[in-house]
Amino acid sequence: MKTADIMANLAAKHPGENEYLQAVQEVLESIEEVYNQHPEFEKAKIVERMVEPDRIFTFRVTWVDDKGDVQTNLGYRIQFNSAIGPYKGGLRFHKAVVPSMLKFLGFEQTFKNALTTLPMGGAKGGSDFDPVGKSNDEIMRFCQAFMTELWNCIGPDQDIPAGDVGVGGREIGFMYGMYKKLAREYNTGVLTGKGSTWGGSILRPEATGFGALYFTQHLLETAGKNIKDKKVALSGFGNVAWGAATKAKELGAKVVAISGPDGVCEIPDGITDEMIDYMLDMRASNRNKVEDMATKFPGKAKFTAGKKAWSVACDIALPCAFQNELSEDDAKELEKNGCWCCCEVSNMGCQPGAIHYFQSKGILFAPGKAVNAGGVATSGLEMTQNASHISWSAKEVDDKLHFIMQSIHEQCVKYGTQPDGRIDYVKGANIAGFMKVATAMLEQGII
Ligand code: GLU
Repeated sequence: MKTADIMANLAAKHPGENEYLQAVQEVLESIEEVYNQHPEFEKAKIVERMVEPDRIFTFRVTWVDDKGDVQTNLGYRIQFNSAIGPYKGGLRFHKAVVPSMLKFLGFEQTFKNALTTLPMGGAKGGSDFDPVGKSNDEIMRFCQAFMTELWNCIGPDQDIPAGDVGVGGREIGFMYGMYKKLAREYNTGVLTGKGSTWGGSILRPEATGFGALYFTQHLLETAGKNIKDKKVALSGFGNVAWGAATKAKELGAKVVAISGPDGVCEIPDGITDEMIDYMLDMRASNRNKVEDMATKFPGKAKFTAGKKAWSVACDIALPCAFQNELSEDDAKELEKNGCWCCCEVSNMGCQPGAIHYFQSKGILFAPGKAVNAGGVATSGLEMTQNASHISWSAKEVDDKLHFIMQSIHEQCVKYGTQPDGRIDYVKGANIAGFMKVATAMLEQGII
């Protein structure tokens, strides 16, 4: 297999689907060498099959807004790969959602889920519905309309959606209500990220951020470093950033910046518990403005319009918002300001130029599919609890999450350690995930 040939083919079939092509390119270039040592993979055309989703559902979602006007959005579910388990992955509600974005996310999800050690295939879905400025009632009506189409594509042993950008516990609740009504079954295992009184796992909301910090701890420890008293800049203020800020503070780090689409909030003395709590209000308000933090905490948080979190001096950068949010120029600015570690928490948060720059300068870097896998891993733990009709304590879930993040780190070290002793976490995560999925596909025959 030659990455360039496969990419040329894919680009011809899917013109303009840049995010999807970017994600595939990143994986293929890092697995090429290992792949070519396995003629049985080549014979079964594993790569050619793995880069295309198994199937895509597209549907119209029509709902009525608060003014009584009829609104129409597009909805999607992309079932990418089910070699190691039922399709599993989140739903994203964001105005920029198009098939290319969901295909990149579904592709990444396949490898990420393989790293979790749990039996989950890869999927992603969502809609171009824009939650910004929407009322609670509008969110409910949209979620209900979305589920009237999605419900018969999913099931606890078939495809299990969850949250992602724009979809949290509230949206999962509204969608589950409609699912239950249509399916006439109390099948909690069909969605994860549910409320903790009706089948949701304790710690699922925190899990992506907590898991990211556990992974960061392992990475730092392996490099002979420590997170205590380090300055952390993170982007976003949604669920993932909230969990990351909570755990970073708990581990003794100082979160000095959070950001949003409108700009950055600098917090020179470090984020406080009140500010972390306020992040939840900011998300629930659907205003999507980080400036609200500075308005609420004058003198403690300083807002600058149009700037990113990467303009603030820090030791560790944690992109927690959106794909491609950190460019090569941002990486250079971070380095200039003293940053020596970047753990990507968002899916494909760093542009390829930024990753190459970090790696060329010896700045520690780990990719999203390893760092943020604690979220979907805890979804997997939620599925186990649902299937056995029990509920684990916070300690039980946290211990399992810890163990999974440690195991993901070990897999990255196993497959990513280079002849000079350096650990290439991008290669490590991609090869580990790939080997597991490819082996399962091979064993299941040509389908
Ligand atoms: N959207 C999250 C992710 O990117 C979670 C998916 C899930 O829990 O199924 O991994």
